[in-house]
Amino acid sequence: MSYFLCNFAFATMINKETIDKIMDATQIVDVVGEFVSLKQRGTNHIGCCPFHNEKTPSFYVSPSKGIYKCFGCGEAGNAVGFLMKHEHYTYPEALRYLAKKYNIEIEEEEQSDEEKARQSERDALFHVTEFAQKYFAELLYEDDLGRAIGLSYFHGRGLSDEVIKKFGLGYCMDEWSNFTDHARKSGYSDTVLEKTGLTIFKEDGKSYDRFRGRVMFPIFSVSGRVLGFSGRVLSKEKQAAKYVNSPDSDIYLKGNILYGLYQAKNAIVRADKCYLVEGNVDVISMHQSGVENTVASCGTALTSPQIRLIKRYTNNITVLYDGDSAGIKATLKAVNLILAEGMHVRTVLFPDEEDPDSYAQKYGSTQLQEYLASHEENFLLYRMRLVSEEVKRDPIRKVELEKEIINTIALVPDTLERNEYVKQCAHLFGTTEESLMRVLNRTVSNNVQKAWKEAEQSARQQHTEGDEPVAEPQAEEPQPDNEQFAAPIEDKLSQCEAQEMKIVSLLVNSGAKEIQQPYKDENDNPAVYEFRVAELIVSELNADKLHFDNALYQQIFDLYDHCVAEGTPLPDANYFAQCQDIVMRNKALSLMIDPYKISDLWEKKGIYVTKPENRLFEDVKESIYNFKSKKLRLRMEEIDRKLKQESSAEEQLMLIAEKCELKKIQVKIEHDILNRVIV
Ligand SMILES: [Zn+2]
Repeated sequence: MSYFLCNFAFATMINKETIDKIMDATQIVDVVGEFVSLKQRGTNHIGCCPFHNEKTPSFYVSPSKGIYKCFGCGEAGNAVGFLMKHEHYTYPEALRYLAKKYNIEIEEEEQSDEEKARQSERDALFHVTEFAQKYFAELLYEDDLGRAIGLSYFHGRGLSDEVIKKFGLGYCMDEWSNFTDHARKSGYSDTVLEKTGLTIFKEDGKSYDRFRGRVMFPIFSVSGRVLGFSGRVLSKEKQAAKYVNSPDSDIYLKGNILYGLYQAKNAIVRADKCYLVEGNVDVISMHQSGVENTVASCGTALTSPQIRLIKRYTNNITVLYDGDSAGIKATLKAVNLILAEGMHVRTVLFPDEEDPDSYAQKYGSTQLQEYLASHEENFLLYRMRLVSEEVKRDPIRKVELEKEIINTIALVPDTLERNEYVKQCAHLFGTTEESLMRVLNRTVSNNVQKAWKEAEQSARQQHTEGDEPVAEPQAEEPQPDNEQFAAPIEDKLSQCEAQEMKIVSLLVNSGAKEIQQPYKDENDNPAVYEFRVAELIVSELNADKLHFDNALYQQIFDLYDHCVAEGTPLPDANYFAQCQDIVMRNKALSLMIDPYKISDLWEKKGIYVTKPENRLFEDVKESIYNFKSKKLRLRMEEIDRKLKQESSAEEQLMLIAEKCELKKIQVKIEHDILNRVIV
């Protein structure tokens, strides 16, 4: 049956026993926690989703089930799926990562030529960037010219060998195709050399090294893979750009990458703060001075995706730049983006002509750390002070500058904090709080409306893309039907939503649970009937040939139906977590992690609610009954409406006959639910 195709084919390279070992050892909270700051809540851990932009956490990780689920954007999966999505690993790569993390030796099976050939293109890109990084780093120490030119440059900038190695720095020879020739000899294709931008191909067929004659700064992913490079020119040639970066590719998107984050992430979590500097050398120099929680955006103005990368580890960003820098305007833009992400921004202003690197070189690490600690101030207050001084010099710009500040204040999510800024602002500008407040409120309300519109639009898009309906799984109990508020019958999807969801929720959460039901056999002797929840649901629904309106629920039901019929193991959390049908995976997992689980709240208060197994049986029976009776009623209503319309006598008779049939079933199920012990 086709549903089984949705599982990943297990990679033939790593044998099954090893995969099992890895899966057994994997703790999802450890794995996700490397990339997302998680807090325990009840039996789950929660954090801000790394896959979409959010201010309040809706990303849930269930250690017991080994899965994660975001109730904001719908992403869900297990540890392997998380790594594949987040780190862009292939399945075997994710397994290798976990094996390394948990010290599991990988036993491999022979890889065929065909399998080798099938290695993804992304893989090939990663391989060549890793190869290039090693080559450039080797030249720096092993080659005479590399030492004389590259290494002496880094040493000249005060970088120690230790930190040079930590950041994997290197040198690309000042020859046309030294690297390209070497890469080709080692078997790398022109295609990957071109795609990663390491080699530039001219139309006349000539090719040369993009980074020739430059010192190399490799750019790592959060997990330490080489994504691309930034190369700094050493020659005095005027026309050469000071820095050249890898072009965007399948693995390198400059707006989504922060320089130094791989080396900085643990320090950021420890300090609960991230320093943002302008250049690569600033980052390295800060690290060398013991301020390891430092990153830089690589060759771009700071982007929202970059800010969200930082937000995974902390809510506090401190921007470091030199006061007279032309980058102030860019910094202001960046600050607005940071505030809009609901984060706190501070700044440290360096003395004239100094930047983090030069300051560290001149005064040493202790002084630098002290300077940072004592000169940090709230960015908005700092900016207001600066602007008010400007207004004193140039009163004509007052209105314009006031507006600029208010626009920034409006981005602060916290109301009390906003009001505090308005107070300060009124004081500095010599304006009344009330008038500023009016402007602020208008701006805030415009922002909110804009955000609403955007959210609505993206929700609509999601819906039309066939994603799950908006209804989320708080409905533990079936919703009471309310005739008065029944939706028009055309809207079939929502009509039985609650009842259908309840059935599917029972399947995915308790399908394999055994229920023991005592009964009297034909000789009136007591006996026990044993069955699994899924068996009961499947046989009940099939008996009345009932279907789900929601195609996704039907698909999940069919899966269980098939397993029950074939006697194969029922799908569990792991099965759905690995399911390649994203819509099905997300739906099933969202039914498994319930963020509103009442029992969690109770447990937090030290009250333990235990659900006896026979309560489960009652629950299943009730749910089937609710589902069936709702279905019947809907169909009967439809018939009534059709009967009122003009139709042939023959059609009318058929409808009446069907209605009688349905009535009989209704009586039967009402009777069954009251009397039946078992099907
Ligand atoms: Zn999300």
